[in-house]
Amino acid sequence: MTASTPAKDGTTRPDGTPYVVVRDEAQWRQLLDPAAYRVLRQAGTEPPFTGEYEHTKTTGVYRCRACNAELFRSDHKFDSHCGWPSFFSPMAGDSVVLIADHSMGMLRTEVRCASCGSHLGHVFEGEGYPTPTDQRYCINSVALVLEPDQP
Ligand SMILES: [Zn+2]
Repeated sequence: MTASTPAKDGTTRPDGTPYVVVRDEAQWRQLLDPAAYRVLRQAGTEPPFTGEYEHTKTTGVYRCRACNAELFRSDHKFDSHCGWPSFFSPMAGDSVVLIADHSMGMLRTEVRCASCGSHLGHVFEGEGYPTPTDQRYCINSVALVLEPDQP
């Protein structure tokens, strides 16, 4: 797991390539409700144990609420009891980008959507959860939209 420092203007991925979906802040504000805007575009965190997907077991794909990109699958979701939906892996290695986050006086690894650059949450590893990766993608419910599989 490696994290990089992003471009200052937030329009490119850590590797320097541009995000596919680029909108200005006025457009994001119009598109997203205030709670989603605060998390996705201002790197906020929803209160723990409040999000709509914390305990969801429905089979399907979790998409980015900002740009609709496929991010996580229900197969990779696990019960972390941490207060937010938790996944042990993104849907594909290039679904998300990881960025070093020095806010709040500690080094954490921020998870952003690889298509639009919106903030999703953080990833932690080595916590001892019995999952294949021992990683916990701790993601805000409000950053996601679940698309259930067709029956
Ligand atoms: Zn996105």
